[in-house]
Amino acid sequence: MDASRDSNADDEHDPEGATIAFERSQVDALVRQSEAHLRDIEAAFVRLAAGTYGVCTVCGRPIPAGRLEARPTASTCVSCAQV
Ligand SMILES: [Zn+2]
Repeated sequence: MDASRDSNADDEHDPEGATIAFERSQVDALVRQSEAHLRDIEAAFVRLAAGTYGVCTVCGRPIPAGRLEARPTASTCVSCAQV
């Protein structure tokens, strides 16, 4: 973002404009993914503090350790995640 701001690129007329717009949309998507992941991590910490980490938020059964290893922010067991 900083680099493109300094280059005087004009998205309307610069032949690179379409590429810059595309790259910006890619970056936007990455940022949104990261923000969603951060929310998952924060939610996991909240459950950890509440003593409910590792317990499925849907059925209340323990989430298998293997699933938590693969996806530490998982809030549901495998069968509830598939619903
Ligand atoms: Zn469940």
